[in-house]
Amino acid sequence: MKPPNIPLIDLGRQHASLERELMAEISDVVRVSAFVGGMQVSSFEAEFADFCGAKNCVGVANGTDAIMLSLMALGIGEGDEVITTACSFFATAEAISRVGAKPIFCDIDPKTANIDPRLIERYITSATKAIIPVHLYGQPADMKNILRIARSNGLFVVEDCAQAAGARYADKRIGTLGDVGCFSFYPTKNLGGWGDGGAIVTSDPNLAMLCREIASHGGLEKYQHRVVGFNSRLDGIQAAVLRVKLRHLNEWNLQRQAIATDYLRLLGSAQVEHLQCIDGVEHVYHLYVLRLAQRDSIVASMRQKGLGVDVHYPYALPFVEAYKRHGYIQGDFPEAYRHSTSALSLPIFPLMHADEVQRVVEELLASIEGCAGRLEKIN
Ligand SMILES: *Cc1c(COP(=O)(O)O)cnc(C)c1O
Repeated sequence: MKPPNIPLIDLGRQHASLERELMAEISDVVRVSAFVGGMQVSSFEAEFADFCGAKNCVGVANGTDAIMLSLMALGIGEGDEVITTACSFFATAEAISRVGAKPIFCDIDPKTANIDPRLIERYITSATKAIIPVHLYGQPADMKNILRIARSNGLFVVEDCAQAAGARYADKRIGTLGDVGCFSFYPTKNLGGWGDGGAIVTSDPNLAMLCREIASHGGLEKYQHRVVGFNSRLDGIQAAVLRVKLRHLNEWNLQRQAIATDYLRLLGSAQVEHLQCIDGVEHVYHLYVLRLAQRDSIVASMRQKGLGVDVHYPYALPFVEAYKRHGYIQGDFPEAYRHSTSALSLPIFPLMHADEVQRVVEELLASIEGCAGRLEKIN
């Protein structure tokens, strides 16, 4: 009999254990008809600010808007440049382009797959206004060096925290190190809603207020539109779900870390290249990513066996279709390019069983052997 499939992430498992609690909170939203904003949203904002150790939290419609709104509130737009990593989900660069600024990509440190601070300064021009480090896969970027460069050049730091809710850098939660932290609550993120959602955290109350205004048609009082904003609000049902799930985030992140430790131990250095953690960070393993040769054949072989592996991401940002016109070549971003051709994400999610981890490892080792064998025959 074929063993059951193992998906990249199984949300059903965490929801099964919380269904009653979740439905009760949602009924509450329905009872008072607080569908956009309202009690659940303000409670969640206060609880999430507290969780992060931030003074202010503004709930918004999604993580991409969180970045866009932050840039707008910082006065960044047409004619400005924003430096970010060459390796992230498209939304990081999209938000920069969407406010009219130009994304300037920086190559990654091959050890971590995060932006390489040693390269940032060469991209700073008189038009540079901000740096957006991404805490990719759940690992905090090298904030000490990023903040040092930002301070000495008068740049803002907007943290893309979409993949790293709960991660810590030098004992502080990510999102509180730079000027603004931007979170996504897309369902598969470490803290995910039952739909789209996002948040901005900042210690600056004026910046928080401005974000809140921009996200609410440019004003908080009815028919008083101080600026041209847009509509990007967190809804009550998402806030209700997020409040329940936030209470479990630490425990779920610990489970992700335990699975990552198992992957590292069971796979060893068997023909795979693990990413490394920098000192003083707590990685929350949104994804477990490693590098290997014959990546595409191994993806195909694993999927055939019912194992939900994936690739994050098959194109480095400078090479996505939308940015082709910038005319970058592989040699401009050698590490991000190599990563895009060799990275593989293994299944990881809270409540994943130890025997599932074991099976992913066994099948991966078998696939590596199989693909190496095939290659020898072809040659
Ligand atoms: C998910 C994600 C986003 C965007 O979040 P949405 O809520 O989907 O808009 C931005 N940056 C990174 C790194 C992400 O993973």
